[in-house]
Amino acid sequence: MPRRTLDSLVTQVASELMGVDATTMVASSELVLSWLVEHFDVDFSFLRHTDQEQRSSMLVAEWPRRPAPSGPDPLQVAHFDEADSAFAQLEHATEPFVIRPTPEYADYQRTIRESSGLAEVSVAAVPLLSRGEPTGVLGFVKEGDREWSTREINVLKAIAALFAQLQARVVAEERLRYIAMHDDLTGLANRRALLEHMEDRLQPGCPGPVAAFFLDLDRLKALNDFLGHTAGDNFIRTLATRLRENLDPGDMIARLGGDEFVIVPIKPMEASAADQEAIRIQQLIARRVTVGGETVSRGASIGVSLGIPGETTVADVLRRADHALLSAKSSGGNGVAVFTDAMRAQFELQDDVELNLRSAVSDGSLLLHYQPEVDLRTGRVVALEALVRWQHPTRGLLPPGAFVGVAEATNLAGELGRWVIRSACEQFARWRRRGLASNVVIRINVSPVQLVSLDFVETMEGILRRFGIDGSSVCLEITEHVVVQDLARTQVTLRGLKRMGVQIAIDDFGTGYSSLSHLKALPVDAVKIDRGFVQRLGASADDLAIVKSIVGLAGSFGLGVVGEGVETTVAARTLVALGCYRAQGFLIARPMPADEVEKHLAAGRIALDLDLPGAARTPTH
Ligand code: C2E
Ligand code: MG
Ligand code: MG
Repeated sequence: MPRRTLDSLVTQVASELMGVDATTMVASSELVLSWLVEHFDVDFSFLRHTDQEQRSSMLVAEWPRRPAPSGPDPLQVAHFDEADSAFAQLEHATEPFVIRPTPEYADYQRTIRESSGLAEVSVAAVPLLSRGEPTGVLGFVKEGDREWSTREINVLKAIAALFAQLQARVVAEERLRYIAMHDDLTGLANRRALLEHMEDRLQPGCPGPVAAFFLDLDRLKALNDFLGHTAGDNFIRTLATRLRENLDPGDMIARLGGDEFVIVPIKPMEASAADQEAIRIQQLIARRVTVGGETVSRGASIGVSLGIPGETTVADVLRRADHALLSAKSSGGNGVAVFTDAMRAQFELQDDVELNLRSAVSDGSLLLHYQPEVDLRTGRVVALEALVRWQHPTRGLLPPGAFVGVAEATNLAGELGRWVIRSACEQFARWRRRGLASNVVIRINVSPVQLVSLDFVETMEGILRRFGIDGSSVCLEITEHVVVQDLARTQVTLRGLKRMGVQIAIDDFGTGYSSLSHLKALPVDAVKIDRGFVQRLGASADDLAIVKSIVGLAGSFGLGVVGEGVETTVAARTLVALGCYRAQGFLIARPMPADEVEKHLAAGRIALDLDLPGAARTPTH
């Protein structure tokens, strides 16, 4: 580097420092220091920043680099109140000062000698100022003695100002980066920081498996509701601190918002170690916390998944952990679940369903099977229940359990439901035109989501009109827990349906929490006893008692009652003995395609060999 004039030196430094950020600050500073060392013909130069809160001075860059000291480097961080006289002066100095090899700086000379080997030095120290406050220092060390001219000092002040600007900019940028990467409430990493971290950890060649713990506090809402949001926030902050203090400093701990945390341990671990660690974290969280004068503790559910660097994507790891979390929560909370192959299969199916169900609704791969319901005393077919199936391109014929739930969770329930109602009514009308099914009711299952949709009643009305079906030939089946969840909205819809004469049955009765008052408040025509109770009739005294009381209850409310899941003659006979005559189940007939069910419709009855006692065999209608 040719010698420059002092002015061109300042220009050169300014242009070097202009594009610098936190990552290049040290290298660029070293380069500039090397120019300055050469230009001012000194032996050593350094740039230090002041941490006003910690009352200390930190080395940022030096030139030439000293060989790494064997022990701790006394020049790296110097605390002002423990420092020698020269360092101490830096804390408040706002004007350049020169240290000469005089006795007043003997202690400083000793520090230098011990850390750099230089015997006696003179130093020009030029403070970095930000809004008049000292934020650091630029220093030039010459072995022996050296004079500094005012002009030289002024140039160094200009250069120190450039360094001070750079420092302020980097601090601001770091602050922004901090805000962008951290959660306000807890100071933990946020979602963005988590994603960046995981992205790095899952690069090919990195050590693995990389475990991710998806953590969710049980019933935090209750805490917020009873103790207030401030207490809830304090609780979360306390937990965050506890996690930070008890986990490895290298572990990534992120809060995604609300009560959701993700932890990615720095140590690679296999499933069993991850399971252990998750249990440890869970115990850590379960310890008591005092907030708002109350001592509370919360359980946590943790979903664990493992990512293989170079193979698994960040999104996959997080989705799997989330999925495992759901499974942990669904088994009552305060549990740990590791993502398994079974979950993977279930998960893939769900993905697939999500991806293909919409087109299935329009491309003819959905179909309906029909299961007859009979009067057990006579075998007469009294109703047909339409049950949806999906002829999946690769997975075969899927039962509703595999996709109705996904449809409900992804806004497809309305579309699927309309398809089912339209198709069932169309088929039913076709049978009626051919003189079949004239005394038969068509039963159609509806999703909760459909019932709360505002235009459900109109849709239903339109379909009935289009196929010329009277409302009373149709019975919609709703599950019990819907009724409990959104009573008011459900009532409105059900009343609208009632005006068209459409019947309503409560499906899977006995599994939810319907009380008598619910039944009274709703215009319901019948209940279908859940197959769980019916199946065990003859084997379980409890179930017998339950079925008996449901039949009694239905009778006292004037409701029809249907036994579902009749698989044995014992069950069928018991139902009849209890006064429940209508039934559905594999013993009578399985769900079957439309063309097969036609033969039962044509015959009007299904032969059953129940050997009922004489009294019960007399048909009432
Ligand atoms: P569900 O409405 O209670 O329907 C009866 C289910 O029990 C049917 O299962 C049927 O195949 C099965 N089943 C009947 N008799 C017996 C028996 O004797 N033993 C046993 N073990 N099972 C028996 P499927 O077809 O798999 O349907 C399951 C559930 O899916 C239905 O329960 C219903 O809640 C829902 N679902 C079916 N079709 C639709 C639909 O079109 N829309 C909606 N939203 N849900 C539907
Ligand atoms: Mg049903
Ligand atoms: Mg049912």
